[in-house]
Order: sequence, then structure tokens, then C-alpha cells
Amino acid sequence: MIEHQINTSSLSKVVLHEHLDGNLRPQTLLELCKASGVDLPADTPDALQHWIHTQANSGSLERYVAAFGLTVAAMSTPEACKRVAFEAVEDCAADGAQLIELRMAPLLLESHGLGGDEAVAAILAGLARGSAATGIPCGLIVCGMRSDAPLDVMRSAELAVRFVGKGVIGYDLAGAERGFPATMHAKAVALAREAGLGITLHAGEADVGERVMEAIELGATRIGHGVQITQGLGASERMARARDAGVHFEVCPTSNVHTGAWKDLATHPLMAMEKAGLNWSVQADNRLISVLTQGSEFRVAHEVCGLSLAQIMRGQICAARASFLSSEARLSAEKRLIAWCAEQLVALT
Ligand SMILES: [Zn+2]
Repeated sequence: MIEHQINTSSLSKVVLHEHLDGNLRPQTLLELCKASGVDLPADTPDALQHWIHTQANSGSLERYVAAFGLTVAAMSTPEACKRVAFEAVEDCAADGAQLIELRMAPLLLESHGLGGDEAVAAILAGLARGSAATGIPCGLIVCGMRSDAPLDVMRSAELAVRFVGKGVIGYDLAGAERGFPATMHAKAVALAREAGLGITLHAGEADVGERVMEAIELGATRIGHGVQITQGLGASERMARARDAGVHFEVCPTSNVHTGAWKDLATHPLMAMEKAGLNWSVQADNRLISVLTQGSEFRVAHEVCGLSLAQIMRGQICAARASFLSSEARLSAEKRLIAWCAEQLVALT
């Protein structure tokens, strides 16, 4: 079994779905909180990570999102945003990334005194520095928080649009899902889409599969999670429509269990999505919050969900094609993934 002998950190990957505020290094979180006087529940990196993981692994999306209070507070200066963005690129690169899209809801920083424009500019500076240091193309997806008032979500879309062509490549709606369908924010999504931003929406994570169809109708070409599309009456038809639309699913199995979107890894629907012919890739979501890497999620997909390495790598090639970065970056990542598979004797067909 060659697949069991491969060190997953050496696998070639495409990062499409990772939140900057869920990706801080524990040491960095500790230092940034101390520097800005934020009260900490622990005073060593390991203890801090353990505390966050305990908060996040609650089986509730709302409580999972609440665990971000500390990380957002830590990112309340431009210097902190730059550092976190730069280190996230370094960490993704160390995990084998060939192309990196990171995301954040910058308006979360407003309550800590940092304006959206300043936050986005600082994050982009950190990503640019990381890209220059690693040689890996990077871009930022701006998120709106779907539980915010439509006017505030619209402000997040306007913010994203101000940075089109300057490193912001996409727009997303994140956060609590039940009771806050994407259709509430249709105008914000339309504004971002019409300005040329790629649209990926968290949908069908905590709420029903129909939310995925609504996201597609709003113009999303990618879906964050979307696992509920496999459930309930009409699931086969919904999956056929999503497949025919060519939508890409950014699937994060462990996160789904931590947020309560799915009961356990053993019954996770990744294999059902593959069998339905959906276009998907394995993504990490939040390295710090869930204590994982994209590589460790590959292992989960293989050892627990039963996907072969070839299926997982085909998914990464789909991810490269679905990226919002330039066609040059997409093609280059795809070539490197194919070359890696050839070297490792992973038969893609
Ligand atoms: Zn997410």
C-alpha cells in the first residue's frame, strides 16, 4: 500500500479554503495577545491551543465561531495582520501548497479599532511578502458575516470591491448559517460578482442542502463545505444539478465534525460526493482551531473516508482549476500537481 507510506506533508496541494483568523500559530497568538493586552486563558502555546480546541470542538457552529474571539482580538493592528498573513503563507508552503487562497472577514476587526481598508491592506502586504518568500501565488477572499445586517454585509462587499486588482480575488459569506440564508445578502454577492470577484459561499454546512442550490443561483462557482447536499429528499437531483453546473466543493471533514455539521468522520459524505460525480477537494478550514493541516485532512479522507490517493489528487487538480487566481497561476499549479503525481506513481486516470 504505497499510499500509507507517503508523508502527507510532502503531498502537493492547493489551498482554497482556510481562514486567516483560524490559522494563527499558537506562539504568535500568545505573543500578539500579550503585546496588545488581551487576556489569555493559558500562558503557553500548547495550553492555549488546547483551550481553543476544546472551545471549538463543541459540535456547534455558533460555539465554533465564538472561539475566534481571541484570534480576531490578536489581529487588531496592521502589524499583526501582516504577520499572521505572512506566517499562514509560510505554513501552507511547508505543507506542500502550490497555490494559496486565504480568507478573512476584515470588518470583524472594526470592533477592535482597526478599519476594514487598513486591515485588508495589511493582510495583502503580508500575503505579498509570503508569496515573494515562497514563490507561491497567493490571494485573499474577503468574507462577509452572514448573521450581520444586510447593510454591514454590503459594506464588506464594497470593501472587497475596492481591492479588486490589488490582491483580493474573491468574496464569501461565512459564519452562522441557520436563519441567515445567503439570499438575505443577494445584493452584496451581486455587487462582488459584477466587479469581477470570484464567488465562493459557505452553504449546506449547518443548514439544509437547498442552501447550496440558492448559493449557485446567486453566482457561486464554489461552495464552502456543502455536505448537506447529500441529505434529504431530492438529494440525488440536487447533486446532479450541482455536478452539471460544474460547481467546486471545498470539503473540510474534521471541521464538519467540530462544528456539528456532521456526526462523525466515519460517516462523512465525501465518498458519496465523489460517487455522485461532484467536483470537490479536501481543504483544512482552520489549522489552529481544529489542530490539523491540509495534509492531515488528506489522511482522514484516505484512511477514514476511503478515498484513494488518486481521487484526492484529482480533487486537488480540480481545486487548481477552480481557483480565483490568474489563469497562469492555475495552470502552473495544475502542472506541478500532475508532475508530482507522475513522480510518485499516482495514476490519475
Ligand atoms: Zn470555512
